[in-house]
Amino acid sequence: MCGECRMKSGLHVPEDLVHLDVYDPQLKDFVNDGECGRIVLTTLLPEGGKTGNLLINYDTDDTTTVVSREKCSCGRTHMKIMNPQREAETVYVGGFPFNKVDVEQGVFQRDNMEYLTGEYEAFLYGDEEETTLRLSMECENSQNCDVGSVENNFLETFLKFKPGLRQVHSDGTFNIIFNFTEPEGLEFYKISGRPKRLVDRR
Ligand SMILES: [Zn+2]
Repeated sequence: MCGECRMKSGLHVPEDLVHLDVYDPQLKDFVNDGECGRIVLTTLLPEGGKTGNLLINYDTDDTTTVVSREKCSCGRTHMKIMNPQREAETVYVGGFPFNKVDVEQGVFQRDNMEYLTGEYEAFLYGDEEETTLRLSMECENSQNCDVGSVENNFLETFLKFKPGLRQVHSDGTFNIIFNFTEPEGLEFYKISGRPKRLVDRR
């Protein structure tokens, strides 16, 4: 929803389209500019206006910091924030981080999407010694899903720019196992609320 500042010093929030609040972690109060907090978004609409995705005090699970509300050196007057982080969705394996976004890059590839619905969930199990990532993906039709190619596509992309994770994966302390389900076969369908895609169960 935001646009990167031309001077690469953060993101500008289009304040005529969206209202952005930054809350403390418990969502009790706003934080001051310059302090990190959770992004809560509300779509702004002109009277009679329409939108595809109306957000009202929507907790994004992202964190950011308001950098400035003054006119920017790039010329824009919109408030500027730091690039948001998805703190709740970053996990560490063997000291190496990855994020929900990394899992999604592995899942949502053009070749994979011939077989998958795009719904997935990932759970981490294990202890200090050994960690297992169990990735479940929903197939359009599990009878004719090319699971071997989906798995290879995932691993290639997921590990591509992560030499640390690739190392622990190849030495056997980080296992990645795959599970393919029929539509609505994932765990999150049984749980109310917004699905959590990457869950640390260690
Ligand atoms: Zn700017």
